[in-house]
Amino acid sequence: MYQNIPALLDIAHGHARTWFETLPARPVRASASSEQLRASLGGPLPENGAPPAAVIGALISAGNVGTVASAGPRYFGFVVGGSVPAALAADWLVSTWDQNACTFVHSPLASTIEQITGSWLRDLAGLPPAMSVGFVTGGHMANFTSLACARHAVLRKAGWDIEADGLNGAPPIDICVNEESHYTIVLALRLLGLGSARMRKIPADEQGRMRANCLATALRETSGPCIVCAQAGNVNTGAFDPLSNIADAAQERGAWLHVDGAFGLWAAAAPQHAHLVRGIERADSVASDAHKWLNVPYDCGLVLCADEAAHRSAMSLAAAYILATGAERDPHEFVPEESRRARAIPVYAALCSLGRRGVAELIERNCRQARRFCEALRAAGFAVLNEVVLNQVLVSFGAPEQTHATIAAIQQDGTCWCGATVWQGRTAMRISVSNWSTTDDDVERSIDAIIRCARSVAR
Ligand SMILES: *Cc1c(COP(=O)(O)O)cnc(C)c1O
Repeated sequence: MYQNIPALLDIAHGHARTWFETLPARPVRASASSEQLRASLGGPLPENGAPPAAVIGALISAGNVGTVASAGPRYFGFVVGGSVPAALAADWLVSTWDQNACTFVHSPLASTIEQITGSWLRDLAGLPPAMSVGFVTGGHMANFTSLACARHAVLRKAGWDIEADGLNGAPPIDICVNEESHYTIVLALRLLGLGSARMRKIPADEQGRMRANCLATALRETSGPCIVCAQAGNVNTGAFDPLSNIADAAQERGAWLHVDGAFGLWAAAAPQHAHLVRGIERADSVASDAHKWLNVPYDCGLVLCADEAAHRSAMSLAAAYILATGAERDPHEFVPEESRRARAIPVYAALCSLGRRGVAELIERNCRQARRFCEALRAAGFAVLNEVVLNQVLVSFGAPEQTHATIAAIQQDGTCWCGATVWQGRTAMRISVSNWSTTDDDVERSIDAIIRCARSVAR
């Protein structure tokens, strides 16, 4: 029955070996068009099955031309991150074991590793040990789950049972968000029936940091159930909201404080950057990603909640939180999923293999590399639009068309990959340094390529 599997995995393993040998040297961009990929993979649904080795062979051929080397050392697009070796290998085990991380009974291993990993993550991020943890698919779902907990808690305080009675007729909730919030906050509010147009957008400064005094003023205009959404790590600038001041304002008002720390949370693990996140330990909920800067494979987001009862009530059918002594933890009670991947296992492996010191070094190194990009590009005469406080660098090459043309030239060149963004009305190229395998030499090669492309476009 299973005797053919090892040979098949050997094929995958052989490809993985070549993939990693060539990853640092290959062009970062993909080389195939969608037409080419469709021609090699598409056509009608096969009537008869093909031999598994042929299927895997076809995928490998398509993968060689259709993938972006985003796992590699010179991909600086979005905020992506790669996978540290132990996390990748653990992910293979997860697929091999095919555990359902739904309940303890489904998989004692998955349930127990979630607990261990959850406590390590709280420790690493400087969050209170009492915070409950859920492993979701990504940052968006982490924001969604956090805000579902918030919705439960603020309405319960107002005497309303959202799970039983829904939103019809519920007391209105005031929601204050940083005007520079990530768009998944808006999407999460929409999914939760809280309405994207109902948010009060709190002004941010030129780095995208919420103005705490504006929040305090806005909160004074509210009286009912209230949620504040702050941010640790703006997706463009990397800037942090003044979390301590925001926590003061939220606490005084009795509002729920949610912090989106998709990638910024990990600054807490790095001694030179931990001050940026100070105050986050006072949040009611925190959303983060492990698949970004913690460098584990997709998909892995994290939701942490200071009110475990609210967390369970919002996510499970248990009306009230009663954990019988000695009862085992069922992971699905903390997430909007039932059957699910044992995604904590690669996180466990990443944390074990890096240790506290390794995570700190990863974060500090990437931040230092971001500062190097900033310094070199400024010295070459280009405008860096943000204060480089973390791992994000925004560069303008002149007029919007000039910046777009430069980005296209850099992507085509293939030495590295950076994407476009718009920051407070200005078109920019965003460099996000978030991969464990990026060396200082990769940074210098990328700087050379960027400057070379920018100058040739300017000519
Ligand atoms: C990436 C990101 C998200 C969304 O996370 P996904 O894992 O892509 O769903 C949310 N907030 C911030 C600040 C982010 O950078």
